[in-house]
Amino acid sequence: MTKLTNFISQDELALRIDLAVAFRLMVQFDWHESVGNHLSAAVSEDGSQFLLNPRWQHFSTITASKLQLLDIHDENILQSVDAPDATAWCIHGQIHAQVPEAKIILHCHTPYATALACLEDPTLYPIDQNTARFFNRIAYDHAFNGLADEITEGKRLAGILQNHSVMMMANHGVTVVGKTVAEAFETLYFLERACKTLILAYSTGKPLRILSDEIAEKTARGWQDYAAMGDSHFGYLKAEILKCDPTVAEYYRTE
Ligand SMILES: [Zn+2]
Repeated sequence: MTKLTNFISQDELALRIDLAVAFRLMVQFDWHESVGNHLSAAVSEDGSQFLLNPRWQHFSTITASKLQLLDIHDENILQSVDAPDATAWCIHGQIHAQVPEAKIILHCHTPYATALACLEDPTLYPIDQNTARFFNRIAYDHAFNGLADEITEGKRLAGILQNHSVMMMANHGVTVVGKTVAEAFETLYFLERACKTLILAYSTGKPLRILSDEIAEKTARGWQDYAAMGDSHFGYLKAEILKCDPTVAEYYRTE
């Protein structure tokens, strides 16, 4: 494993704090699952070095210090004493390596997005402005092959995710990527809201009133003007988290 040095850049420290905050928010929004699921952030430009949560550590205990710095070239990582979760290593390592523009990767099983991903037709139909935000902008993986704990499965998932910020994973969950933690978190936030609306609409048993392709596309494009909204939203949530528990931002240097 790549050892933490006794010096990290201000950029890495800021990234560690934002990612640690995201873990805490996953708990707050009830999007965590036991001690599984994983969020990561690329540290190097090519994505080969990235931060990841330690294996099976509860999200409510993650701090800037506790994030592991991993290197995709470390072939013996899964045999080490502080090995990451195998599925985290395979999914995140391969996406960071193959899709370096995906700086932040959030993989989770949020209730409503996962429920939608378990339907025979997992399409997120545009029925309101939040669902329309994702119109024709989601990669759908229709093949569930068991736990994604093999490199070949990670490579396959990375190939499907290319050029998308959201991947709905059949019978499994979702993977969301972004350039910043704030951007990825906001995408996940609206994805879960949108899936909740669609699942609730389905639950009435009444026919859906689906938007035309033209209006759905217009709505999705309209959302582009609101890209900075995610920074404000995450900024507020981050301040609240740090106010309640300032240790989230603590970073201890180690040899
Ligand atoms: Zn998963």
